Amino acid sequence: MFNSVLINNTDGTYAAEYTELNDDVLPAGDVTINVEYSSINYKDALAITGKGPIVRSFPMIPGIDLAGIVTHSDSPTFQQGDAVLLTGWGVGERYWGGLAQKARVKSEWLTALPSGSNSHQVMAIGTAGFTAMLCVDAIVEHGVKPSDGPVLVTGASGGVGSCAVIILASLGYQVIASTGRPEENARLFKEMGASEIIDRNQLNLPGKPLQKERWVAAIDTVGSHTLCNVCAGTKYAGIVAACGMAQGMDLMGSVAPFILRGVTLKGIDSVMVDAAKRPKIWQKACEYLPVTKLEKMSTVLPLSQAIEAAHLLLDGKVSGRVVIDCNG
Ligand code: NDP
Repeated sequence: MFNSVLINNTDGTYAAEYTELNDDVLPAGDVTINVEYSSINYKDALAITGKGPIVRSFPMIPGIDLAGIVTHSDSPTFQQGDAVLLTGWGVGERYWGGLAQKARVKSEWLTALPSGSNSHQVMAIGTAGFTAMLCVDAIVEHGVKPSDGPVLVTGASGGVGSCAVIILASLGYQVIASTGRPEENARLFKEMGASEIIDRNQLNLPGKPLQKERWVAAIDTVGSHTLCNVCAGTKYAGIVAACGMAQGMDLMGSVAPFILRGVTLKGIDSVMVDAAKRPKIWQKACEYLPVTKLEKMSTVLPLSQAIEAAHLLLDGKVSGRVVIDCNG
């Protein structure tokens, strides 16, 4: 038997519950894991509350990421006792995910824990930190250096945003944090390394196609009008790494920043990232998101409180990362 969050959609009634399941209901897969930690990401919150069409089959154990210990393996790649992590690949959406004490998955989806890390640290980083690292990597690969000018992060008090601020600051970039909670989180942003904080109201309404050039690069977790304004304020030949849609999926902007300023709009997806690329990104994420910094911007909750945490996250009452202790 193991504890789990389980989502059902029976006769049009969508509901998540904290429950106990028998091991024999675990799905097919070549690796079985004792899950130690998972986390609550925006997507998990949409899945648990039913406020977004995330879950593709029912019943579903949500949780788009997990870390734990292999208890059984039919794969030559992993042995019993190995410490592993998993993000994306459709777990928590199409396949049973991490908000449970046990998981059975495909070995191709697993990444060995980076050396020197532990399952708590990698889930404090989680999908959010992994995605933030992918965004920063895109900016660095574009050739943007710390001396070129400031980098903007939108949704900065969220999971992806706060990780992005810390990583960029660790690399020596000057960071502008855009947030709806400027006063509430001012001290935290400074501790994370942001040098300027702007109110997200400056960015979230329809704006001019080209605006004053304010940042050389940006990481946008928000989408919609915010993303259009972010592109419109990006310096000549700069880059915007777009990974989120907290404001909306729509994009009703102008091509002006792209054709008149040569701005690059780079889409970032963490779900289907090549397995071969993942260990390198995880190694960097662990390096630039050290435990001391993660502790300040993450909250650890037991699995029994995962459903409540999902509601709080969508209500804007959570800052940073929510880590779920599956045995807490
Ligand atoms: P969080 O809920 O932790 O953070 C989102 C942040 O966005 C909030 O904290 C808030 O920050 C800001 N925000 C919320 N609502 C609005 C709004 N209406 N207008 C403007 N800003 C708003 O989510 P995550 O950090 O986990 O995820 C952020 C986004 O990135 C989500 O859309 C998620 O789906 C996406 N994502 C994409 C991935 C990918 O692979 N592409 C992977 C992971 C996440 P503040 O209060 O500071 O303004």
